[in-house]
Amino acid sequence: MPTLFTRIINRELPATIVYEDEHVVAFKDIAPVAPVHIVIVPRTEIKGLSALPDDGDHRHILNAAKTIAEQLGLTGGYRLVINEGRDGGQSVDHLHAHLLGGRKMTWPPG
Ligand code: AMP
Repeated sequence: MPTLFTRIINRELPATIVYEDEHVVAFKDIAPVAPVHIVIVPRTEIKGLSALPDDGDHRHILNAAKTIAEQLGLTGGYRLVINEGRDGGQSVDHLHAHLLGGRKMTWPPG
């Protein structure tokens, strides 16, 4: 059974895609918590950060975040968040990062 995000990647579900390359797809979060809220998802179905293989090249989400932030003009800064597991607040079991920007972030997060 493909994940929700794989179905978005495959255009089986609607989303506003803002960036894609051979490794990742990025789209607007359906319930944004900041003026800019982009979800960056690897095309490969990896359940979460804890399931990331130790080997391999894992720069793609970071590189995409940097590129998207530049494209969206987030010159003042931004935040990149990966929620892992239930205690981390993960609700979709397909590895993804949240790119948040367009307002000043607070610390600590809730
Ligand atoms: P997380 O809670 O870290 O697993 O993040 C999952 C994110 O996916 C949440 O911020 C949701 O708002 C977002 N989301 C869920 N369904 C969709 C959808 N169909 N299109 C865009 N974003 C979604």
